[in-house]
Amino acid sequence: MFIAGPCGIESSEQAFKIAEFVKSKGATVFRAGCYKGMNRPVVDGKPEYLGMGDKGVEILSDIQYTLDIPCLTDMQSVRQAEVLHKYGIAYPQVGARNMDSLELLRQFKKIFNKSKAKAIVLKRGPSATVDEWLGAAEHLGGPERVILCERGIVSFDRTKDTRWRLDMVGVAYIKEYTQYRIIVDPSHGSGDHNLIYRLSAAALAIADGLMIEVHPYPLTSPTDGKQTIDFTEFTRVANLVLKKKLGPKLAKLDQDVERMTGVTAFWGIDYALQIEKRLGLPPGTITNLKLTTTRFADFLQDEANNITKINNKLDDLGLLY
Ligand code: PEP
Ligand code: MN
Repeated sequence: MFIAGPCGIESSEQAFKIAEFVKSKGATVFRAGCYKGMNRPVVDGKPEYLGMGDKGVEILSDIQYTLDIPCLTDMQSVRQAEVLHKYGIAYPQVGARNMDSLELLRQFKKIFNKSKAKAIVLKRGPSATVDEWLGAAEHLGGPERVILCERGIVSFDRTKDTRWRLDMVGVAYIKEYTQYRIIVDPSHGSGDHNLIYRLSAAALAIADGLMIEVHPYPLTSPTDGKQTIDFTEFTRVANLVLKKKLGPKLAKLDQDVERMTGVTAFWGIDYALQIEKRLGLPPGTITNLKLTTTRFADFLQDEANNITKINNKLDDLGLLY
């Protein structure tokens, strides 16, 4: 599961632009907060951004339908949950600050039991133990209905203004001893956009997925800009995810290339397209090689070179181990 999007939704244009981009890079879920429950209502004399509210949910449901990507957004009350339910949001999220509100969780369970929501994402409270987190998840419906999200806990060490501390022990524990799916949010879990790539690599080694905050101009984001990565950095993270996804398939790639070319007359761009489709690669990964061979004989002769070119291309993208 690869969830990405801005901290908060700012406009329909902003949301569509980011959703289209992250989807093109392989994200499987688009995230954007509609109801932002900020730590303080006013900071430095200015009211904090509280999100677009119900209008934001409407935009997300439009994105789900138009771009065909499931969406995730946070809810903090029964009323907000009902709005998410009404608009068919695929992944309602319980934010870190509500993990302890057990009565609220029981209400959410009721609302989403009868809804089309695929699962409820439950973030860990920054001061909650793993046991308390698992208890909360039971109130929400258990492993079938809940996906856990580790988003960093309180720590004495806030070197260089890092925000929270990702608890990878907690993640490993959940994978080892429970049936829950668990994803990792390195954005809130560190508070520093420079650390997202490395933490994503670490998370991908043991968790079931990632949730990343991304924005074309992070510093203009009304919330969490410091921990938000831009499109270039997101592309690097997306390639990590692709590499992990392709791991077993990469070994087969050379064989596939040989087999396909041996028995079919696909070549040039069609040939590359065919491989992209078979391997579930984003369009362009191989087609950008612009294989221009026009004669089958040439193509066969070039075969060894093509395999090398494809490998080089994957290597450039950071997809080869
Ligand atoms: C969020 O994911 O939008 C969010 C507010 O995170 P958290 O609840 O982990 O602070
Ligand atoms: Mn955020």
